[in-house]
Amino acid sequence: MNEAKAARYQRLRRRADVVSAAAGIVVLGLCGVTPAGAALADLVTGAVSGTSGRWHALAEVIVFVALLAAALEVIALPVVIYLGVSLDRRFKRADKSVGGLVTAQLHTAAVGVAAAVIVGVVIHVSVRLADGWWWLATGVTLSVALAAAIRGVSSLIARSGAAGQLSNPELTARLAQVSVDAGVPVAGIFEWRDHGHDEHTASVTGFGKGRRVLIAPDVLRDWSQDEIAVVVAHELSHHKHHDLIQALLLDALLLSSALAVADLGLLLSGVPAGALLSLPLIALMAGGVWLVATPARHGLSRWQERRADQFALAVTGHRDAFAAAVRRLGAQHLAEEKPSAITRWLFHRHPSVDERLAMAERR
Ligand SMILES: [Zn+2]
Repeated sequence: MNEAKAARYQRLRRRADVVSAAAGIVVLGLCGVTPAGAALADLVTGAVSGTSGRWHALAEVIVFVALLAAALEVIALPVVIYLGVSLDRRFKRADKSVGGLVTAQLHTAAVGVAAAVIVGVVIHVSVRLADGWWWLATGVTLSVALAAAIRGVSSLIARSGAAGQLSNPELTARLAQVSVDAGVPVAGIFEWRDHGHDEHTASVTGFGKGRRVLIAPDVLRDWSQDEIAVVVAHELSHHKHHDLIQALLLDALLLSSALAVADLGLLLSGVPAGALLSLPLIALMAGGVWLVATPARHGLSRWQERRADQFALAVTGHRDAFAAAVRRLGAQHLAEEKPSAITRWLFHRHPSVDERLAMAERR
């Protein structure tokens, strides 16, 4: 891969992400600190005036948050189209239509609005039940809900994502041995049902007895068996070392801390936590702390990825295949080989291609 081209692609992507985040901050800020927010709150209060006493406040929260979240999704749309149509077409020669991107973004937006409404309702109920401790109740509830959702989705992918058992008996026996050597039992090894996601390679999904290895069809077609074994061993490391649970625990800690800061901010600004207008302020302040904590979350992820790489090499011993797979994935994602330190800290959940190759070289 042409390094200058990869660096340029990633820089433009990051710039688009920053623009999108900045637009979101402006909208939340406008809603939180200017009369526009109060006007929207009045509008919502009037619109749900038909609901009976008990449900009135809840209906207000749901409509207010849904409108705000929908506005944020609409603002994010130009960036999504720019990334998909202009950038990916130019650099990756990906053939994505505007219609397809808008449809995909509508699905993402629906999930985003639903998630925002759930968060709004959890905050509302927490303020009612836990009063001054609403931030802790919200942090714990959302963290448990997130863990349950991830577990559910992972089990669902394990059950529904498989197109059928691998037809190649040699590769099946090989990967079964990798699972034994790694000490992570799996229920079976399957071909991934092809949804046209070019970023899919191999994954270990599900938990306990339902754990399955899924491998994308183009990986089965194009990659060597040694490369596939290394990538599967890497994925098994994440299960063996409970990386997901570690990440979720750190997220729970950071989320609760971010909400505690938001609570302090509300106290200082004199806005009661139960008011509709507190919601954009909470999103702004907690979101700010979450962003500032990005290097900590990415740092944990990079540490886990390095451990998974070392584990994959120790289990399979295929250093050359590891290097080939890392180069292949780097080219596929147009990864920068030598990102700057600040880029690594703020944006990278994986070690760079250079770092991974150097690690394999040292073994
Ligand atoms: Zn990994």
